Amino acid sequence: MTRDIKITRIVTTHFDYQIADLALEEELGFDTVYKKGGRLSASGGLLSIETSAGISGTVSGGIDSRTAQYLLGRNPLDREIIWHDLKRSRRVLDGTPPGAVDIALWDFAGKLYDAPIYELLGGGWRKKLPAYASTYHGDENGGLATPDDFAQFALRCKQEYGYPAFKIHGWVNGPIEREVAAVLAIRAVVGDDMDLLLDPAGCFPTFEDVLKVGRACDEARYMWYEDPFRGGGFSRFAHAKLRELITTPILMGEHVRGLEAKADTITAGATDFVRANAHADGGITGVMKIAALAESYGLDVELHGGSLPHRHIMATLRNTNYYELGLVHPLVGDSKPAVYNDRRWLDELDSVDENGCVEVPEGPGLGVEFDREWIEDHKTGETVYQ
Ligand SMILES: [Mg+2]
Repeated sequence: MTRDIKITRIVTTHFDYQIADLALEEELGFDTVYKKGGRLSASGGLLSIETSAGISGTVSGGIDSRTAQYLLGRNPLDREIIWHDLKRSRRVLDGTPPGAVDIALWDFAGKLYDAPIYELLGGGWRKKLPAYASTYHGDENGGLATPDDFAQFALRCKQEYGYPAFKIHGWVNGPIEREVAAVLAIRAVVGDDMDLLLDPAGCFPTFEDVLKVGRACDEARYMWYEDPFRGGGFSRFAHAKLRELITTPILMGEHVRGLEAKADTITAGATDFVRANAHADGGITGVMKIAALAESYGLDVELHGGSLPHRHIMATLRNTNYYELGLVHPLVGDSKPAVYNDRRWLDELDSVDENGCVEVPEGPGLGVEFDREWIEDHKTGETVYQ
């Protein structure tokens, strides 16, 4: 028997906030880096899908008008049908259903069944999720400006917070010798009992640069080398070629959208770890499909970025290793919108327990109430569909 429930109203609340001591990196003009006295403006949203059951699904994010009109009147429990309809609707864009919609529908379902999402997904393999501290990009402003700055921050993450792993987003603009020196310096300072990951985030202009840094990762025994090519992390050929020349495992696929394209990335031999992101890869439904795909090839899926949906997904997956907690920096204070009034859920540097793990919420749905007062204080507007 299908429950007779309908989506009745969809509301997006828009808000703005400021982050201290951050600025846009000047050379490429897009990445955020440390700058003392800087003030970076940021915006966000809260998407709420209201239903005739008197229960809403709510998630950080927004929605476009056409998708909202499609959803009105539909049964919010038809997640799989909605997922496939919205996937088709995006076929000339990225071919991926909007993640926020799917996550909101899972939140609704959890609240309807009075269960945390991870229980609906299959229960919890783990309730404590080992995290890696994932840094802001290197800067030229006295923050993460030298190889030793990164090494000392990695050591602090290990000793002061208990992080079992550390990920470097290096400098967006050379010189490549400094990047190589950072890779080696961090290992030398933290020792062997911390997993190290390197994410150049598509910054290295030549194959030779990619190779030089990859060989340093080999020497320093890095756990993975992620998206190094300036081409944006799309070329399966280039990554497969790189895998022939270095031994460090590759993580490619953060910028590749679509279940079929993720499958092609695996079968082309382009990656060792499979990347997935609920916000970009079609919500919780999309990530669970990618995780099953990775499982079928005997590979692990590593979730891109933090957030509550990723905590629920990671709790229930066997084939995954680390929660990405970031971005963090030794001299930048809180940098996430304070939409929850409990620091455990905000993905700040100290949002981990003494072993560098984050927790999985136990409440219904996503399991944490939003701080409505903070959102009201920072609200800039509202879009309503009904
Ligand atoms: Mg990345």
